[in-house]
Amino acid sequence: MAEPVVTLRHFFERARAGQLTGVRCGKCGELAIPPKELCPACGERAWQPVPLAGEGTIASFTVIRVAPRAYAADVPYAIAAVKLKEGVSLLGRIVDIPFEKLAIGLPVRFRPLVKDDQTAVGFGPA
Ligand SMILES: [Zn+2]
Repeated sequence: MAEPVVTLRHFFERARAGQLTGVRCGKCGELAIPPKELCPACGERAWQPVPLAGEGTIASFTVIRVAPRAYAADVPYAIAAVKLKEGVSLLGRIVDIPFEKLAIGLPVRFRPLVKDDQTAVGFGPA
């Protein structure tokens, strides 16, 4: 099997460099982020990388107060599902927004990966 155009590793490398990258299916046009092996809409594997603006709004959020051991030092922290303006949603860590300001529909902007967590993207104030 050939390597996908944008692997998860590439996705996080690019995110660390400040660029949020999705993949668009060359067969049906479905946009996916983070990258997936096969298109969930048509089952094909014809991904093309697509740079995303990183602007979106909070679709849902939760404040984590009890975390797995690896994140125990970070609590409390907030995780949000962010609906990007391109129409896809991405889960990310909220940074620099007080919990009491969090709200559905709040505009946020992509931040490069959370420090010390190379597998989490961040979202901060728009
Ligand atoms: Zn497709």
